Amino acid sequence: TPALLVPEWDDIADWWPALGPESEKYTRGVVGVATGSTTYPGAAVLSVGGALAGPTGLVRYAGGAAAEVLHQHPSVIATGRVADAGRVQAWVCGSGLGGGEAAAAELRSVLAAPVPAVLDADALTMLVDGSHARRLRDRDAPTVITPHDREFARLAGSPAGSDRAGAALRLAAWMNAVVLLKGDRTVVATPDGRAYVNPTGSPALATGGTGDVLAGLLGSLLAAGLAPERAAVAATFLHGLAGREAARRGPVTAPDVVDALRPVVARLTAR
Ligand code: AMP
Ligand code: MG
Repeated sequence: TPALLVPEWDDIADWWPALGPESEKYTRGVVGVATGSTTYPGAAVLSVGGALAGPTGLVRYAGGAAAEVLHQHPSVIATGRVADAGRVQAWVCGSGLGGGEAAAAELRSVLAAPVPAVLDADALTMLVDGSHARRLRDRDAPTVITPHDREFARLAGSPAGSDRAGAALRLAAWMNAVVLLKGDRTVVATPDGRAYVNPTGSPALATGGTGDVLAGLLGSLLAAGLAPERAAVAATFLHGLAGREAARRGPVTAPDVVDALRPVVARLTAR
């Protein structure tokens, strides 16, 4: 395993897209979010919340929880399905989608889209099916997959074990995707053999829905034009800081992480 890279605040600040007088909502990036369902509307609300905390100018929501999403986030544009969405520069797909044929069709649409994608949660479960995995490996556009330990073990066929970076690097090469292996000291591994370990974070993030927030934020960074490796590292770093900030105020819930992201991002842009 190569030496692990450790990102710093100044790296993230350097990579963050600047706003200026020429900024325009479409040029800031449009992120598409295909998460949630009538059964799991919260996953949609949280991933859209994460996306709205990022640098993009517009969030499109494609999924079964549009009413809940719009109620919480009126600035979002709801489109029916992934294939019907207008211009999108990166997709976030997976959490709360469920595992039926409709969900599989949405995953296929995302995999077929010629733009970067984040695959999380139920999308990772569906990837265990070889036909989706083959479509992922054949993709030209970059993909970031965001498994926690159990999702990783299912995808890789065995647990990451003690050499988390080595295991993540092997899965990244096999899947042709950046692997963001979540947990204490999250690892980001690239298909071409670089690995980072995240220095921020808090065990208070070990609560339902925080991964959905991370996936949304990551999608925003991809849509804003960051390279997938930087987007994954930056989203993990900022999400970890937000988790720490939220934990100072009391027991953390996933919406608290969304709220804590805003001031963290504000510090980043107010250098
Ligand atoms: P998920 O399981 O998909 O909701 O994602 C959980 C989020 O919480 C990820 O960002 C993890 O990195 C983070 N997390 C979970 N457990 C811990 C822990 N013990 N220490 C730090 N972060 C954690
Ligand atoms: Mg999750």
